[in-house]
Amino acid sequence: MALPDIDASKLTTQRTTAPKELADPKTLKFGKGFTDHMLCIRYTEDGGWEAPEIKPYGPLEIDPAAYVLNYSVEAFEGMKAYRAADGSVRLFRPEMNMKRLATSTQRLMLPAFDQEQFLLCIKELVRLDERFIPNEHGYSMYIRPNFIGTEPNLNLQYSREALLYVYMAPVGPYFPRTVKLLASTTDARAWPGGVGSFKVGGNYAPALRPTMDVIKAGYDQILWLLGDDHYVTEVGTMNFFLFWTNADGEKELVTAPLDGIILPGVTRDSLLALARGWGEFKVSERKVTMPELVEALAEGRLHEAFGAGTACVVCSISTVLYKGVDYLVPVDPADADAVYGPLARRLHRELLDIQYGKTPSPWSVQV
Ligand SMILES: *Cc1c(COP(=O)(O)O)cnc(C)c1O
Repeated sequence: MALPDIDASKLTTQRTTAPKELADPKTLKFGKGFTDHMLCIRYTEDGGWEAPEIKPYGPLEIDPAAYVLNYSVEAFEGMKAYRAADGSVRLFRPEMNMKRLATSTQRLMLPAFDQEQFLLCIKELVRLDERFIPNEHGYSMYIRPNFIGTEPNLNLQYSREALLYVYMAPVGPYFPRTVKLLASTTDARAWPGGVGSFKVGGNYAPALRPTMDVIKAGYDQILWLLGDDHYVTEVGTMNFFLFWTNADGEKELVTAPLDGIILPGVTRDSLLALARGWGEFKVSERKVTMPELVEALAEGRLHEAFGAGTACVVCSISTVLYKGVDYLVPVDPADADAVYGPLARRLHRELLDIQYGKTPSPWSVQV
């Protein structure tokens, strides 16, 4: 007989007896201050998936020898719940996050799970804590699913026990300004044959030291390059886009291809679809190198560059330090104080209108 999979109809809820006071939305910091409840679903190889539980947010009990603590057997997701003008709560393309989590999970030998049933459990958690979603534009509630291997075993095979859990944090606008990047010619985030395309914890710890070096040097994020030709892959934890007049004289929006190096962002996919839908310029997924970018800048062909991800949506780039030279990237020629370039602003607005339910779209899913 098949072992049980996740079953949302078996979900139990233990409500907190100490509901938190809501913080002033103005004081919200990304990734700090969590809601009242969390969702936990345990797995064992012998018994399959146990009944999902929603319980008060709090510490997990975990064996010191658990796989995750030794070998980083951890995958995660990042998604958001938005409050629409009519008061409804919405998720954005959540099935893409479920699918990506399953892909990351497979890479770590964590167990498969029923994506639809897991999403039903997440919706229940969002409904329970929906009072935490600030009722102001640009604000939302960040949802963090974590999947960890919990078997206490130092043997390097795979974890026969696992925990899938979800917690949430109300968030304000992530980057209300342009960013300055340092293009690293020494550190790589991902490489051919590596795991750059998976959202696994092991990709992020090694990025901390180079990231802090960059911040100490007065920049915001790393522009991750790869190989001797300095292929431009990603910006910090965002996908990279540039809008230029290419060497053939065509207007083109370009981002790196899904070649196993870059993380397949939901935002990336959505921006590509929006821009393709307009049909106003060429939209490409292909490699661009740093020397090509510098040449386009020198020739006045680079119009905008920006990062894209769930946390910030779209984030315009104003400066790139590369081989000791600070290159100024145009943001908006018509407005010296602009936080977004014209294309970034339009993409940002169109995406937010969908996420907040202003523009009807099958991408926006009511909770
Ligand atoms: C999560 C992430 C992104 C953005 O993905 P979204 O689904 O758009 O949030 C991009 N790059 C990296 C490295 C990431 O971890």
